[in-house]
Amino acid sequence: FSTSAAIDEPIKPSIQIDHTQLLINGKFVNSASGKTFPTYDPRTGEEIAHVAEGDAEDIDRAVAAARKAFDEGPWPKMTAYERSRIMLRFADLLEKHTEEVATLETWDNGKPYEQAANIEIPKVVRMFRYYAGWADKIHGLTMPADREYHVQTLHEPYGVTGLIIPWNFPLLLYSWKVGPALACGNTVVLKTSEQTPLSALYVSKLFHEAGLPPGVLNVISGFGPTAGAALCSHMNVDKLSFTGSSATGKVVLGMASSSNLKPVTLELGGKSPFIVCKDADVDKAVDLAHFALFFNQGQCCCAGSRTFVHESVYDEFVEKAKARALKRAVGDPFKKGTEQGPQIDNAQFQKILKYIRSGIEGGATLETGGEQLGSTGYYIKPTVFSNVKDDMLIATDEIFGPVQSILKFKDLDEVIQRANATSYGLAAGVFTQSLETANTLTRALRVGTVWINCYDIFDAAIPFGGFKMSGHGREKGIYGLSSYLQIKAVVSPLKNP
Ligand code: ADP
Repeated sequence: FSTSAAIDEPIKPSIQIDHTQLLINGKFVNSASGKTFPTYDPRTGEEIAHVAEGDAEDIDRAVAAARKAFDEGPWPKMTAYERSRIMLRFADLLEKHTEEVATLETWDNGKPYEQAANIEIPKVVRMFRYYAGWADKIHGLTMPADREYHVQTLHEPYGVTGLIIPWNFPLLLYSWKVGPALACGNTVVLKTSEQTPLSALYVSKLFHEAGLPPGVLNVISGFGPTAGAALCSHMNVDKLSFTGSSATGKVVLGMASSSNLKPVTLELGGKSPFIVCKDADVDKAVDLAHFALFFNQGQCCCAGSRTFVHESVYDEFVEKAKARALKRAVGDPFKKGTEQGPQIDNAQFQKILKYIRSGIEGGATLETGGEQLGSTGYYIKPTVFSNVKDDMLIATDEIFGPVQSILKFKDLDEVIQRANATSYGLAAGVFTQSLETANTLTRALRVGTVWINCYDIFDAAIPFGGFKMSGHGREKGIYGLSSYLQIKAVVSPLKNP
């Protein structure tokens, strides 16, 4: 590994931080308590800015604004075409400001700037255009009745939606939730992650410049147990959508049910298998398995974090996976060509190092990496373990870091059983040249997404979500849309009574 000078002397971002307050009813305001909290640069651990800290009282204010914008209009009362046009204008503005937005995202999160600017922000733009396109195509059905009745369904928005997002893809997950919620005519109170509050504030300002009426989209920065919990328990919130850990997902569901039984969409953790079959082209399999695990510093809920490799190609695969990890460009995320930046914060950094130690102590073979890179910030050397056994913590727990665990298998029935032996069920990768093998695995794996000879394909129309403890419901595409709509059956006699 080359500890680039850039790690020790971080590149200075080229923008100012303009928005740090809460966004309530179309205005930036201080929190009711006047409190703020720092957000940190993961490259150095130093403060970037102080951000207003929302709490229960601020959630109340935001919910009241969203309630008014829903009940009295203008949002659900506008034509769907008008809503669509505002969303499209926002997408245009966002595209125009890609550089600033990507800079904020990298600064606050540590992800490579090129990844933010060339992959993620364009996907966010695309998602808003996709859902803007749906806004005026939402309609119900008519159906036959047994007797002389006219029966139809109306697809209506829930009302006030509470959206809670994590720090690993701040804007991408913003678009997965805010896009469909608004397209359907709901209003929104968004609680961002305390680690990455900056980009959502910036783009939500752009949304208002695009013509979004006040109160339709409110953004609260703050912590989970205070602001997040207040949103989940609120009696005036009609629907929740949460992305985060499975442990917090359970708490969120509990609060939703013990308050007003609001429905909840949950997108939670994973320990996704990436299965390299005996007929695989090893070089290609190594590259894809590497990408499946290391993308975004390994901080993906769907990371291919159990690399199962058939015994006939296992030794060659391990050797090449190690070589690929050694080549990974780790460094300042603002530097051109950087593939991997720092982990999000000290807590995650320490947690990952602890898992690495448990892998070593548990008897897995550390092929490469296993420690901090440099001495500042939260950089971790790309780490590869071979000889991993199913019951080791590195094979059972979501590490959320650049740690690849390689396991050996003999036959398909065995790998199916082992791949499914987890409480998670988010995604799986299958690498094979055999259609029959791909079909067998696809049908047997208990997961929400199977990527065959590809990974992390996130087009707007592809539904995403988990089986088992990886979540409830689906986001993106037409399935994501339906989770923001209520169905109302309307029945009337054909003749005057
Ligand atoms: P992680 O930080 O590991 O992604 P979390 O599930 O803790 O996972 O965080 C995801 C989001 O959930 C963040 O916005 C966080 O503030 C929020 N959150 C954490 N705890 C709670 C809670 N008790 N109630 C509501 N939201 C919470």
